[in-house]
Amino acid sequence: MCNLMVNRVKRRVSCLPKATYYKPREVPLCDLEIINLSIEELETIRLCDLLHIEQNEAADMMGISRKTFWNDLQKARQKVVDALVNGKAIEISGGEYVNSSECKVEFLCKACEHEWELQCNTGRPSSCPKCGSEGIYRIGGDGRGKRFIENDYRCPKNGRKAAVNNKAGSVKK
Ligand SMILES: [Zn+2]
Repeated sequence: MCNLMVNRVKRRVSCLPKATYYKPREVPLCDLEIINLSIEELETIRLCDLLHIEQNEAADMMGISRKTFWNDLQKARQKVVDALVNGKAIEISGGEYVNSSECKVEFLCKACEHEWELQCNTGRPSSCPKCGSEGIYRIGGDGRGKRFIENDYRCPKNGRKAAVNNKAGSVKK
């Protein structure tokens, strides 16, 4: 029993769902198969597919490795599509997570060196609020050293700009 909890890192989640139950219309719940989607699994789809945050960065925001993020994301997508295609109910609950809605993310503009802060659940800005430059970087301050992440790196799943993976690693300052 306890072994299941070993190596489970608590995921940081910055947005909780507005509704936690979805079911096909006019089918009694007792006749439905119910799929449990955990809060942190939902968070992976939210960050990657709704906000289009690239996976290295999304993993950082949740405080987990890229591989763990990827695994959670695959599980989450599988569950959602299974429910939609096969007419199952989805219950969103549970998981190992901490709510980090107060968590702030810092950005730096390469052009004018303006630095600013945003709540990490607001998505990434597309340009510098001061000079309008699109050459902006996220500054990670999670104790693993400062990381600069290229703004134009995209989630490999949507097929764009996936080749710049080597640039998305950490650059110690
Ligand atoms: Zn600027």
